[in-house]
Amino acid sequence: MEELLDGLNPSQQEAVVSTEGYVRVIAGAGSGKTRALTHRYAFIVNELGVDPANILSVTFTNKAAHEMRRRVKKLIGGEQDTGFITTYHGFCVRVLREDIHRLFYPKNFVILDVEDQKILLREIFEDMELKMNDKTFKRILDRIGVLKGNTHYVQQMIIRGVMPSVEESGDLDSQIIQRYLKKQKRVYGLDFDDLLNFVFTLFDQYEEVLTKWQNRLFYLQVDEFQDSSLKQFELVKLLSEKQGNLFVVGDPDQTIYEWRGADPKYMVDYEKYFPDAQTIYLKENYRSTPEILSLGNALIKNNHFRVDKDMLPTNPSGVKVTHYHGKDEIQEANWIVQQIKKIMAEKQRNLSDIAILYRANYLSRSVEQELIAENIDYTIFGGFKFFDRMEIKDAIAHLRMVAFSDDLSFSRIINVPKRQIGKKRMAFLRQKAEEDGLSLYSTMKKYVEHERLRRTGAKGFIDSIEYLKSIRKERKVSELLQESMQVTGYEAYRREDGDQERLDNMAELLHSIVQYEQTLGEGINLEEYLQMVSLYTDDDRQDQFDSVKMMTIHTAKGLEYPYVFVIGMTESVLPNVRALRQRKERGLEEERRLAYVAVTRAERALYLTESEGFQNGGQKKYPSRFIFEVEDDLYERVGELDEALIEETKDYIRASNRIEKTSGGTSYESGSRVKHPVFGEGTIQEVDEKKNNYMIFFDQLKAPRPISRNFKNLEKL
Ligand code: ATP
Ligand code: MG
Repeated sequence: MEELLDGLNPSQQEAVVSTEGYVRVIAGAGSGKTRALTHRYAFIVNELGVDPANILSVTFTNKAAHEMRRRVKKLIGGEQDTGFITTYHGFCVRVLREDIHRLFYPKNFVILDVEDQKILLREIFEDMELKMNDKTFKRILDRIGVLKGNTHYVQQMIIRGVMPSVEESGDLDSQIIQRYLKKQKRVYGLDFDDLLNFVFTLFDQYEEVLTKWQNRLFYLQVDEFQDSSLKQFELVKLLSEKQGNLFVVGDPDQTIYEWRGADPKYMVDYEKYFPDAQTIYLKENYRSTPEILSLGNALIKNNHFRVDKDMLPTNPSGVKVTHYHGKDEIQEANWIVQQIKKIMAEKQRNLSDIAILYRANYLSRSVEQELIAENIDYTIFGGFKFFDRMEIKDAIAHLRMVAFSDDLSFSRIINVPKRQIGKKRMAFLRQKAEEDGLSLYSTMKKYVEHERLRRTGAKGFIDSIEYLKSIRKERKVSELLQESMQVTGYEAYRREDGDQERLDNMAELLHSIVQYEQTLGEGINLEEYLQMVSLYTDDDRQDQFDSVKMMTIHTAKGLEYPYVFVIGMTESVLPNVRALRQRKERGLEEERRLAYVAVTRAERALYLTESEGFQNGGQKKYPSRFIFEVEDDLYERVGELDEALIEETKDYIRASNRIEKTSGGTSYESGSRVKHPVFGEGTIQEVDEKKNNYMIFFDQLKAPRPISRNFKNLEKL
């Protein structure tokens, strides 16, 4: 017990031993919230004798969940199953694997990511002989997202067996969506929205299932609670109702997912939902130097919608925060890389002690080029989309065939390499599958001697999959992957193809599984592995080797690094211009919180960089307002930032504020007839709240055009 409470301050200790009831910990960045949460978990296991299978600990990303598991295992010993240290989605998968049969889905349902969704859409577009592109896909997926905003569609589809009617039914999009839902059901696929919705439906329709989970989970805890959405909050609230133990930690100043439905009010108004709730505040910061902390504190003070709380430093004084201003992006990138070399030489640090953060993925490119030129290793989280690459998806589909033999994986790899199963034979298989109520793979097995399939590679494919199924129990996942790549001929096919990068990626996949098996020190079974991978977002690549870490600020949530560069600190990038346009004051405050998250990742030194020049869209660049809204002496300024540019920046910010405040724009409904000064009369087809524009079909144009809602000269007829 001593050990668990050692290295924690009295408030953290209180958090650790407050195991019963509703408890919230509110505290700023780097105050040891996650540490307290981890120790509390271990305390419940070691000191209260509770099995980890009875504790649900929710974190925000898979990466954070891995990290927490690793730390917990150190404290409680390695043997215990810590599967319930997971994300919201990961937890839903656990529930569904046990109980989804009640909704007439098999336990080996497939989890669909955006790429899988697009594959389904592509098939539909082909069937309907429609032209497709990424933009239409995105529009359809957005509408599907809206439909899945609540659980009605699950009730309709599953329980009443009817397809939910999509608004304005009859239009082409709705037809596509209908087909999509049918297809999705046929392959037993669930996307990320479905996971939560299916669990809610189960809990709602089958009280015994809810009771089972409520009885099982004695203790619930949530990290980064400020970024929970209504649905996520309702899930943990519901689960906690029986035992009454829910422990949450968070920092309202770090809410950065409001645009995706997060709402800090569940954190801020916790005692309204749970009147007996206990609140613990942590005040000391253990992460950063006083210099970095002062900047963070000063920056976030500019937000109006917040409860004031300052962090007190515990670390010795260090160096001032640097603001670097470059003449152009190349100079900026160059300077950053020179600093990195200096840190390495003077401080004898590892590359892994350095992180480069940015508002959007594209900003990394110039620095990447410079790092490559200087031969400095780096790893990019997010944007790289390792698990989205074709060859990686193919490889995983082979494993899924061995485990599940699902239609989606089948369609993905049956003709790669070519096995003479083209469109026509696929249509034949689909039709037979429909008639016989079988999966595509089972159908192929049944008709393998049929004249349509006799002279194809069908038999060979079946033989190799059956062989793999027969050995799967004796093999590790890594071995199974290797064998499957060989016996199906996939690897040979890739070698013939000659794309070295793809081969390297496949090798990297194998490497990552081997590493995973080694760090766990125990075998992972195939289903578990596939489940983990299917929940991977692009942020989860292994980061074991020594390299500079590059990622968006969103990805950096909860993490810390000794040296942090926040690059592209340019007005309209951070704060992001679209966030400002769409959400005005709220948008600006969320952008400022994002800057606060970035700044508070740094332990010893922080560099904010930006440069002159022009943006993607050709607009002139100015330094971010966030750089100027704190006292000047918090920075050491490097680079030539002349007074004239500062004045120009201030004018620019003032002007853009004025536009946001006065514009107002128009708010016409979809279906309205309007008149444009250049394009003439037309009809509004759609109002896109997110992009703040209308899609208008002008009578004299062939295709609809997006027109901004801020455009004042659009007249309603
Ligand atoms: P964030 O809001 O960014 O997620 P956090 O509040 O979760 O931050 P932690 O990551 O738990 O903060 O802790 C920040 C750093 O301080 C970690 O390196 C942690 O090990 C260290 N730390 C936490 N508590 C203490 C303590 N009592 N004494 C010394 N170091 C501590
Ligand atoms: Mg944390």
